Amino acid sequence: MTASHPDAVVVGSGPNGLAAAVALARAGASVLVLEATEEVGGGTRTAELTLPGFTHDVCSAVHPMGILSPFFRTLPLREHGLEWITPPASVAHPMPDGSAVVLRRSLEQTGAGLGRDASAWSRLIQPFLGDPHGLLTDLMAPLRIPGHPIQLARFGLRAAFSANRLSRLLFRDDRARALFAGCAAHSILPLTWPLTAALGLIFAITAHVEDWPVARGGSQAITRALASYLETLGGRIQTGRRVEQLDELPPSRAVLFDTSPELLARIAGDALPAGYRRRLGRYRYGPGVFKLDWALDGPIPWQDPACLEASTVHVGGTLEAICASERDMYRGVHSERPFLIVCQQSQFDPSRAPEGRHTGYAYCHVPHGSRLDMRNAIESQIERFAPGFRDRILARHAMGPADFERTNPNYKGGAITGGVADAFQLFTRPVARLDPYSTPNPRLFICSASTPPGGGVHGQCGYWAAQSALKRLGRG
Ligand SMILES: Cc1cc2nc3c(=O)[nH]c(=O)nc-3n(C[C@H](O)[C@H](O)[C@H](O)COP(=O)(O)OP(=O)(O)OC[C@H]3O[C@@H](n4cnc5c(N)ncnc54)[C@H](O)[C@@H]3O)c2cc1C
Repeated sequence: MTASHPDAVVVGSGPNGLAAAVALARAGASVLVLEATEEVGGGTRTAELTLPGFTHDVCSAVHPMGILSPFFRTLPLREHGLEWITPPASVAHPMPDGSAVVLRRSLEQTGAGLGRDASAWSRLIQPFLGDPHGLLTDLMAPLRIPGHPIQLARFGLRAAFSANRLSRLLFRDDRARALFAGCAAHSILPLTWPLTAALGLIFAITAHVEDWPVARGGSQAITRALASYLETLGGRIQTGRRVEQLDELPPSRAVLFDTSPELLARIAGDALPAGYRRRLGRYRYGPGVFKLDWALDGPIPWQDPACLEASTVHVGGTLEAICASERDMYRGVHSERPFLIVCQQSQFDPSRAPEGRHTGYAYCHVPHGSRLDMRNAIESQIERFAPGFRDRILARHAMGPADFERTNPNYKGGAITGGVADAFQLFTRPVARLDPYSTPNPRLFICSASTPPGGGVHGQCGYWAAQSALKRLGRG
C-alpha cells in the first residue's frame, strides 16, 4: 500500500481500465494504471487525422451506453470536464427512395415516420421505459440474480429472436424493419442469428431515454475525465509503459488487465495454468472494421435533410440489404454495398472543425483481418443517399483492421468490441466461469471489453472486474 507497492495495478487505460481503477480507488485501494501509449483512453482517443483544426474520433464516437452507464452515472465526470452534447435525434436511416426514418426520443415523433408500424414500435419499446435504468443495470452486468426479473424476462422474450425474425414478426413495412435492423447491426453478427434482436432492442430503447450524445471536444474527454477523477482519489497513471511480462510490474495484491484474452495469456505466461491459457487462446474475436474520416467543406448533403439532425446515420437501406451485407461480411465476403455507421459529430459540436467546415466519420464491418481497401465502397454507399458527397471532401484518412491492431493490440484482426458477442460468448467471455473477471490465479483479473457486458464505452466491464478484485482484497 505504499507508492511503490500499490494494492492494485491496472494494465491499460481504456474506459474499462480507468473505470476499474476508479472503482478500486473509491473503495479505498491504492491503484497504479500503466498505459502502453503516450495518452490515456484506448478506444476513446481523439486526433487531428486529416487537416489542422479538424478533430476526429479515432474509434468511439457516439455514446448512448456512456451517458446511460450505471457506473458512469455515479461519477462526477462533468466536474472533470466531460460534457455530453445531445443532438435532436439519435439515428437517421435513409431509405432507398432518399427519405429518412428518424429515431427520436419521443415515441410519438418516431412513430410519425413509421406509418402503420407506429403502434407496433411503441408496443415494443414502451414497456421498458418505466424503469430503463433498472433494465440497463441488469443487462450491463455479468450473469447474476437480476434486480428487475419481470422486466428482464419481458426483454428476454423479444431479445431471444434474430433481428431479422423479430422485425418481420412485428413490423409490416420496410421503414420500421430497416430502423430496427440498423440498430441491431451494431452487434456485428449476421442478423439471422438468435439473440441479435437483443442489441437492436437495447439501442432502440436507449434512444428513447437519451438522444445518443457525443462528448464535447471529442470522445477522449470521457477518459480524460475518468483519469482526472482517478487522480483526485489518489490513483496514479503512467503512460508510455507497455507491459510485456508480469515480472515488470511493481508488487501488488491484484493485477487487472484491460487487454485482450490473448495478451492476458501472453503477459501472464506461467502464472496462469496452461489449460486456462488454452481456453483464452480459443477466444473468438470476430470481424473487423474499415473506417474513413473526412475533413469536409460543408455538412453531408443528405437527400433528406432530416438526416442532419441525428448524431448517427445508419446507411444500408432495407432490412434485406443490411442482412445481406452483414451475412456476407461474416462469411468472409466484402459487401459492395456495405452497411455503414456514419457519425456527424461536428454537426452538434462546433469545436470539431473550423467554422463552416465539418468532420465526417464512417465505418463498415469487414472480415477478420481484411486487407481490402473499402474507400470506394464506403464513399459510393454514402453518395447513393447524399449525392454530391464526394465533392465536399477536402481530405480523408483511412484505417483498416491492421491499422487498428497496430495502434491497440486489443483490436485483434480489426475487431472493435472485444470479441464476438453471440449466444455462446456474450456472458462467458473470456471463458465460462462463475466469475468471468477472475482467473485461476487469485491475483490476476481481466477487465476489458472481452468480459461481460462486452464492447462499448460504458466502463461496466471495469466496474464489475473491480468488484471481483475488491473481494480478494478483502474490501468487497
Ligand atoms: C472504429 C471504432 C468505433 C467505435 N465506436 C464506438 C462508439 O461509437 N460508441 C461506443 O460506445 N463504443 C465504440 N467503440 C468500441 C469502444 O471503443 C471499445 O469497446 C472500448 O474502447 C473498449 O474499452 P476497453 O477499456 O475494454 O479497451 P480499450 O479501449 O481497447 O483500451 C485498452 C487500453 O489498453 C492499452 N494496452 C493494451 N495492451 C497493453 C499493454 N501490454 N501494456 C499497457 N497498456 C496496454 C491500450 O493501449 C489501450 O489504451 C468503437 C471502437 C472502434 C475501434
